[in-house]
Amino acid sequence: MAVPKRKMSRSNTRARRSQWKTTAANLTTCPACKAEKLAHTACPSCGAYNGRQYAEAVRTEHEG
Ligand SMILES: [Zn+2]
Repeated sequence: MAVPKRKMSRSNTRARRSQWKTTAANLTTCPACKAEKLAHTACPSCGAYNGRQYAEAVRTEHEG
């Protein structure tokens, strides 16, 4: 396996990391209530997921 011959400069490391970017979350619409929700999760407003209902998803402890 190749090993770097020299330590990379702080400037070079920071220049590379300055190109790191975040991407927007993939929002979909809930088929039950048409609200915006994250893909592959239960709907936060009505708790529907894959034709089933999750009452806990509507009110969790940390959401209040
Ligand atoms: Zn919903």
